[in-house]
Amino acid sequence: MVLLSKSKFVSGCQCPKLLWWTVHEPLAEELQPDKVLLDRFDQGRLVGELARERFPGGLLIDLPHHDRDARVAATARTLASGAPAIFEACFEAGGVFLAVDILQRTEAGFTLIEAKSATSVKDDHITDAAIQAWVLAQAGVSVTRVEVMHLNKEYRHPGQGDLFVRTDITEAVLAFLPSVPGRVAEMARMLEGDNPDQPIGAHCFEPRDCAFMPRCWPDDPDHISTLYNNGPKRSVEYMAQGIHSIWDIPKAKKLPPAALRQLRALRENRIIVEPGLAQALIPFEGRLGYLDFETVARAVPVWDGLAPWGQATAQFSYHEEQPDGSYTHVGWLAEGPGDPRRELAERLIEATKHARHIATYSAFEKTRIAELQLLVPDLAVPLGELLGKLADLLPVVRNYVYHPGFKGSFSIKRVLNPLVPELTYNDLVIVDGLVASVEIARLLFVAHKIPIEERDRLRQDLLSYCERDTWAMVRLMGRLRELGSMSSSEQ
Ligand code: SF4
Repeated sequence: MVLLSKSKFVSGCQCPKLLWWTVHEPLAEELQPDKVLLDRFDQGRLVGELARERFPGGLLIDLPHHDRDARVAATARTLASGAPAIFEACFEAGGVFLAVDILQRTEAGFTLIEAKSATSVKDDHITDAAIQAWVLAQAGVSVTRVEVMHLNKEYRHPGQGDLFVRTDITEAVLAFLPSVPGRVAEMARMLEGDNPDQPIGAHCFEPRDCAFMPRCWPDDPDHISTLYNNGPKRSVEYMAQGIHSIWDIPKAKKLPPAALRQLRALRENRIIVEPGLAQALIPFEGRLGYLDFETVARAVPVWDGLAPWGQATAQFSYHEEQPDGSYTHVGWLAEGPGDPRRELAERLIEATKHARHIATYSAFEKTRIAELQLLVPDLAVPLGELLGKLADLLPVVRNYVYHPGFKGSFSIKRVLNPLVPELTYNDLVIVDGLVASVEIARLLFVAHKIPIEERDRLRQDLLSYCERDTWAMVRLMGRLRELGSMSSSEQ
């Protein structure tokens, strides 16, 4: 019989098929954590360790993970010793083995505490806590209160407010608890059989995106989920009405202009360029720069003014078109664990001072520069001038161009290939912003753990990635100008 764990129970509550694959195909590619998820685990571990510091006298059950019996026995001994709190207390009952993050002894009984690196209580925290409360009840431990101890979104480094918030979820857990034995029995029965039939639906995204979506969701360019602006919720609503293809959408349905353009492009199997593209590119005339940022976000912030998971700019790439038609490039990446944002702001102001306009792709850079203004007030004026030069290319693409290859998305990586097929990211090691973010964090905060040759290579990989993002914008702008002049001459 398969022994359930907290995470398996939570997966089983999301979807039986997800649990079946998790148990029967533990080596599935989809289940192997990537760099971003591994970093998330590291952040969670750090948060857990800091949470424990709030319980003086607490004792950790620190035994090898595979030795379940020894961990359960050590927990029983520690409970009997009267310790005020136990960390990683282990219990096995009803076909479930689990470890409780923090079990705090109180006069009334025990408070069961889940330590989370999130900044609020999520639905799966309730499920997670409920299975623990159920197992502890069978093990004879009197739990009188259940809490999630999560990061406080109001906290600001260094030390402004409390890093943690303890939220009482006892009522929600009590409401969920009666369903736990039935769910556990059903999961055990299901796991004895074949992979269950389970249609796709809202549960594929809730409480979190399922890793098996590429297996279960149709790889169909006309599927309703590929319609622009159709998030998971709207796709599932359409599917509930029997609408699975974008061609089944009722004619009277009101859609955003970009979605209507998408339908037209797919119907005519060609790129659609709206009249007016050339005019929309006027804000990008004159000496034009192209700017892209990469940021780091840590669960426990390390630089002034940052909240938990607050984003801090640590890298930029800047291309600028020169009067003779050539391009210059400036790339900058922080070094070491100190706060890099003042130096970044100075370098940025210097690099961009000759530009008339500066293209970005989304409002991300605008938001980060506004934050820099607050952080480095003596540079607020030149940073304000820089803000005044920014022009966002994303709405121009969204409002005037659609190629069937966009597949309902206007992200730069999605639009680049159809519009500039000769430029790819295929030759790069880092090809994704989330990976870049965790790799920057690794380079800045744990460089001592990286061999020197790898450190230099990683630094170069990060510089190359960010540079490609701005060069992609340069090439995209060239293509948009061509399309704009073609559409103007057709009018
Ligand atoms: S994609 Fe959806 S149906 Fe498939 S395993 Fe995941 S949650 Fe279940």
